[in-house]
Amino acid sequence: MRAAWVLLLLTPLSAQQYDLVIRNGRVVDPESGLDAIRNLGISAGKIQAISATPLDGRAAIDATGLVVAPGFIDLHSHGQDAENYRYKAMDGVTTALEMEVGVADVDAWYDHRKNQALINYGASVGHIPVRMRVMRDPGGFLPTGDAAHRAATDEEIAACRRQIAEGLARGAAGVGLGIQYTPAASRWEILEMFRAAAHAGAACFVHLRAPGSESVNALEEVMAASALTGAPVHVAHIASSGLAETPRLLSMIAEARARQLDITTEMYPYTAAMSAIESALFDPGWQGVLGIGYGDLQWAATGERLTPESFPRFRTLGGGVILHMIPPAALEAAMANPDVMIASDGGLLNGKGHPRSSGTFARVLGHYVRETGAMGLLDAIRKMSLLPAQRLAQRVPAMRNKGCIREGADADLAIFDPLTVADASSYENPARYSIGIRSVLVNGVPVVSEGRLRNVTPGRPVRAPLPSVAHASACRRDS
Ligand SMILES: [Zn+2]
Repeated sequence: MRAAWVLLLLTPLSAQQYDLVIRNGRVVDPESGLDAIRNLGISAGKIQAISATPLDGRAAIDATGLVVAPGFIDLHSHGQDAENYRYKAMDGVTTALEMEVGVADVDAWYDHRKNQALINYGASVGHIPVRMRVMRDPGGFLPTGDAAHRAATDEEIAACRRQIAEGLARGAAGVGLGIQYTPAASRWEILEMFRAAAHAGAACFVHLRAPGSESVNALEEVMAASALTGAPVHVAHIASSGLAETPRLLSMIAEARARQLDITTEMYPYTAAMSAIESALFDPGWQGVLGIGYGDLQWAATGERLTPESFPRFRTLGGGVILHMIPPAALEAAMANPDVMIASDGGLLNGKGHPRSSGTFARVLGHYVRETGAMGLLDAIRKMSLLPAQRLAQRVPAMRNKGCIREGADADLAIFDPLTVADASSYENPARYSIGIRSVLVNGVPVVSEGRLRNVTPGRPVRAPLPSVAHASACRRDS
């Protein structure tokens, strides 16, 4: 009699059946600080239940012995095609964003990926591509002509600002700036782009004007622009811009944050950078600015080191070059700072590129959490999920439901084996999937299952809300 009564009481609860349950995983959530064995119930692309008791689902993933983390959010991912999304997913990344260089035509960029993407995607409207369009630069991804080397007229600056504003009106997730690649852009021009960002409540994602010995000045430039305009600022790859000055840049950022400036930064976990050899980065004098020589450059397509003879040939040809230039102490200082996010700055082209493209996130978990103990697991996960989600949340409110494991949050999850997770890619072989990433979910759909990619396209746009039609036409009348 009593047993029957208990059974009746439990029936409505146990009748709940989820689309998918993840059983017995070590759930690590940087938002609440939870680090405990839990079961997750997922339905309709959302986390519906987090429970210490068993849950019932139409499908199940056994996560015994595995860590269940929010999917990683890569704020700095130049590779934005199916090839790159596969490497991202196998590295635990559920959202890849092109925030630094950005794009000129925001609508076309998002339309191109609609219902086609393995993982979530998004982009800023970029000063570099906009300046290239306004100044008719012949370059490809980065400028090589006027957009790099000529000061803009007042009319051209106004055109750039207008196009940045138009991209923001079309839902760009921020404003991208790569000042080192547009060194002829005046400080006033940069301020104008910050003003356009501030007007739309967007942050600026900036590759600083100059590295190494000049980077303190370069950081002051964007701090001043942020303070004047009110646009938040995010500094790309602090260690590869700061080089030996990185600890000073980190202390400047901490001081500015203490004075309520909204400034953040990121890093990738490698001591080499990568860029285009035809870009302004390699304008005469680069050895002094970067503190390196020809032999520190490695041609990405072949892995060979450069010489005074091969450098001019490759610069004329154009292509990706790896720069072995980041002091280990700079990397360690950024790694140890709990506010520095992890972002890859990666992009593979036909399997060639920098190993950061495919290995950044597993490298942090394997090498820096497990092997060297440079940071704890919760800190690492926070740097790779919650912090980047928070960076975007003001501009893209939907990001409040990413980067955390919370009832109602998007079911973007990375499930990995903490004992084996590791990067597998190298400078010679950048196109290798990370190991130990067992399952990855994007909006509740497994994109990696038992360590294998699935042929699905659950990725959705990360995009700022578009104004309503009535509001948009009113705006057009104003301008
Ligand atoms: Zn950069």
